[in-house]
Amino acid sequence: MNLLVLKSVAEARAWASSARVRGHRVGLVPTMGFLHEGHLSLMRAAGARAEAVAASIFVNPAQFGPNEDLARYPRDLDGDLEKCERAGVHVAFVPDVQQMYPPGAQTDVEVSELSQGLCGARRPGHFRGVATVVAKFFSVFQPHVALFGEKDFQQLQVIRKMARDLLFEVDVVGMPIIRESDGLAMSSRNSYLSAVERERARALFRGLSRAREQARQGERAGAALCETVRAELRAAEVQEDYVELVEPEGLSTVAALEPGRPARLLTAGFVGKTRLIDNLELELGR
Ligand code: AMP
Repeated sequence: MNLLVLKSVAEARAWASSARVRGHRVGLVPTMGFLHEGHLSLMRAAGARAEAVAASIFVNPAQFGPNEDLARYPRDLDGDLEKCERAGVHVAFVPDVQQMYPPGAQTDVEVSELSQGLCGARRPGHFRGVATVVAKFFSVFQPHVALFGEKDFQQLQVIRKMARDLLFEVDVVGMPIIRESDGLAMSSRNSYLSAVERERARALFRGLSRAREQARQGERAGAALCETVRAELRAAEVQEDYVELVEPEGLSTVAALEPGRPARLLTAGFVGKTRLIDNLELELGR
């Protein structure tokens, strides 16, 4: 295997710093592992933008709530390392919790406003955990470029803001959502779904797609577009967590689409016990 597997912050820091000294651009893809094509698309895109590519595989306890799935989050380190290597990653960073959170750690990073609504409102502390661990990765690797999926759209905006506010010199790049052939957004959590639930899970993308079509046909009202998604969720017995139309950067609610101003329609829902999220850009047609 050509892939270098590093477990300590010190080794990761040394690798990134020697890459920079050699004049290489450093690209970083943070993940929680159980890798799928969505993750691999980020890694390949990193390879197109940087000569030295690192991917982190770290299930970050700080971003899980007390009643969430930290203990049973799916893991497959051997499979992940093979996939990283095939995707052209040079270094897999697989720290344990003590490496990322030194004993007695007291410091968190909080992106105050962007973290409040949507998933942030339903998962208190989630984005504090995300912003904190990503800030640590940025501190260790000092990457020139870091890639994140639009699948986690609020997370992407939170990280952009965190990087700007904390003066990290990193280009935060958002990448398109990779989907299964029937439209379901790829997610490590899809592995929780039974066959019947997997079928019901299609409602998220189906609802979003119908709303996108409505917008193309000229429907402006946020309420009507959201109701289209809700109807699909109800029909498939997916328990709505939220459906919201928002302005893409500040994530504030959009009451009505306006010509030339794309908005983002975001949803989260429970299929059985599994919480899934998805989103789509909407643009007014005609
Ligand atoms: P995770 O392992 O779930 O923390 O995800 C790691 C990174 O992969 C995040 O930037 C996610 O947004 C991204 N990602 C997850 N699923 C997808 C997908 N289906 N398409 C594109 N990016 C994704």
